[in-house]
Amino acid sequence: MSAIRSADVTVIGGGLAGLPAALEAAQHGATRVLLIDKSPRVGGNSAKATSGINGANTRAQAGQHLADSPSLFANDTLRSGQGRSDPALVDVLANESASAVAFVEHEAKVALDVVVQAGGHSAARTHREAPRSDGKPAPVGWDIVQGLAKRVAEVEAVEVVTGATVTALERDDDGGFHVRMDVKPKADGQQAEVQEIKTRTVVLATGGFSANAALLAKYAPHLPAQLPTTNGDWAQGEGLVLAQSLGATLIDLDQVQLHPTAFVDPADPNARTKFLAPEALRGHGSILLQHGRRFTNELGTRAQIVAAMAGQPALLVANDAVVAKFDPAVIRFYGKRGLMRTGIVGVDALADLMRNGLGPCVVPDVTVAGLTAELGAYTAAAKGEKPDVLGKTVFPAEFRATDTFAVACVTPAVHYTMGGVRIDKDARVVRNGGVVPGLYAAGEVSGGVHGANRLAGNSLLECVVFGRRAGKNAALFRGVEESKHVAARWSKL
Ligand SMILES: Cc1cc2nc3c(=O)[nH]c(=O)nc-3n(C[C@H](O)[C@H](O)[C@H](O)COP(=O)(O)OP(=O)(O)OC[C@H]3O[C@@H](n4cnc5c(N)ncnc54)[C@H](O)[C@@H]3O)c2cc1C
Repeated sequence: MSAIRSADVTVIGGGLAGLPAALEAAQHGATRVLLIDKSPRVGGNSAKATSGINGANTRAQAGQHLADSPSLFANDTLRSGQGRSDPALVDVLANESASAVAFVEHEAKVALDVVVQAGGHSAARTHREAPRSDGKPAPVGWDIVQGLAKRVAEVEAVEVVTGATVTALERDDDGGFHVRMDVKPKADGQQAEVQEIKTRTVVLATGGFSANAALLAKYAPHLPAQLPTTNGDWAQGEGLVLAQSLGATLIDLDQVQLHPTAFVDPADPNARTKFLAPEALRGHGSILLQHGRRFTNELGTRAQIVAAMAGQPALLVANDAVVAKFDPAVIRFYGKRGLMRTGIVGVDALADLMRNGLGPCVVPDVTVAGLTAELGAYTAAAKGEKPDVLGKTVFPAEFRATDTFAVACVTPAVHYTMGGVRIDKDARVVRNGGVVPGLYAAGEVSGGVHGANRLAGNSLLECVVFGRRAGKNAALFRGVEESKHVAARWSKL
């Protein structure tokens, strides 16, 4: 059974790219906007974000006298992209970053008052909320998505359809699109209903493909096979397939960011989706051990640490000093979730734990003497008595055999797919010699902003900046005449 709906703008995907797209489309005159998400609720990976969103020349930066500029920000992003980023997209990203952060604060009703300098940035510009009144960290991605979803629900022109998977995107005879989707049944035993949407324009906001092992093997065969991922299982790259069916150009699909530390849950060690063990655990001084020995500078880049891990898990070891600086409440949360073992008093108990194993992190032949020597050598380097054999020069904490430890088994995981559908600065989907008229893309489904490496905080920003542009331009799309004009411009490049 197939039902037919109609729309001015159909947004596929309800993460941080899709939600602003739907809002802007309605704001710019679209009277019927459909926002479709295959999950039971909107949010996607955007809801998992914890570090924050970047902005240069924002309200919060001004209030804290933090010097920054869009050009400094653009330079950092281009440097990180190692020559692969599209300068036109980066220019838009940086120049619209402050208004994107203001948009999020206003529309989602969140106060992004905390500004930190994340790795690779030359200014403090990654914005998140202050901790809750009980001291617990505020989940910034979750709060932003919830706030925007609430805002979308107030807008009459937007209808949100969840539990509906878009399976096909086809050109219509009149220049619009036919979108086909499978709508999950409301009750057990019922069949999925196929529904069709006749729509003037489409915004692809389906996220990346970090959870699709087959696509990773196809596009990034250099990666170790069957790596787990920090992404939810919705990150299947369906938007790439939909765009490709209309001739879209795909770029940089081999550029995949791995994160060195995702928690291995000993109760479910083979789970494909893993909880992220944040950078700050290492930033505040945790060390990493394989076979009872350190093997890398824990403050090296993600890529250096992943390479040193050689596809194997490692034991992340914190002590009370690290826990105090990181956040005791969050460590307690990890402990309750079974992701960390806490309260391990002294190196004898640590050795026992390593012999018995924590998930795949097992060291049957570890000795107390060996571990004591390892921690002693580290602390001697931290005190400047001798250089660190692994080249570490900054030591946020010292370790002693008598410390109380908190430990976790961690593994490298696929974190972010930099490549995707090629877009121009108006978020139009590009194909050879022009654009696909009426088709837009934003967020992780698109490629071109991050090049070879995404800076922390740049993905949420990209979603908002290009999601807004996509929604606005889709609403204002004037039809094929506009596309001919764009095609003429592209052919001159
Ligand atoms: C653990 C974690 C922490 C992160 N922290 C940060 C951070 O602090 N700062 C930062 O900038 N970035 C961070 N990132 C990256 C960032 O969160 C994502 O790249 C970004 O949110 C992607 O947003 P999106 O809207 O493109 O996709 P998503 O938010 O993933 O949304 C895509 C949506 O599309 C839906 N969908 C997919 N296919 C279909 C289909 N065929 N039909 C219908 N619906 C479909 C999905 O269900 C999903 O809800 C983090 C990522 C992870 C995994």
